[in-house]
Amino acid sequence: MDVARKSQDDAEWRERLTPEQYTVLRQEGTERPFSSPLNDEKRTGTYVCAACGQKLFTSDMKFDSGTGWPSFHSALDNALETKRDFKLVLPRTEYHCANCGGHHGHVFDDGPQPTGLRYCNNGVALRFVPDDEG
Ligand SMILES: [Zn+2]
Repeated sequence: MDVARKSQDDAEWRERLTPEQYTVLRQEGTERPFSSPLNDEKRTGTYVCAACGQKLFTSDMKFDSGTGWPSFHSALDNALETKRDFKLVLPRTEYHCANCGGHHGHVFDDGPQPTGLRYCNNGVALRFVPDDEG
């Protein structure tokens, strides 16, 4: 991707997202723990990418991790892509929306069954769509 195209994309992102969403989705920022109302979201529905609307998780993949971020043990097929992140001493696995490339969080291997995975997601990067609104 050339530089002109990239900065054009960047301008579009800034327009479309709130400053908090931009920091997380485009700069791999992390929201404050316990700041997202989605931590306590218990209704049945689907979690979609706040930037592009791609479906990422369903409510039955969510669990209460106690970390202060919305957490999921699974993700929908082909919804996410991962890369290794060496920002901390211990490498983490970063994941982002497979459709728009927006950063969502990190996946750890200390989650519950059936997968043993924990997708630790920034709530600001998600939008919840309750089933009864679908
Ligand atoms: Zn997306």
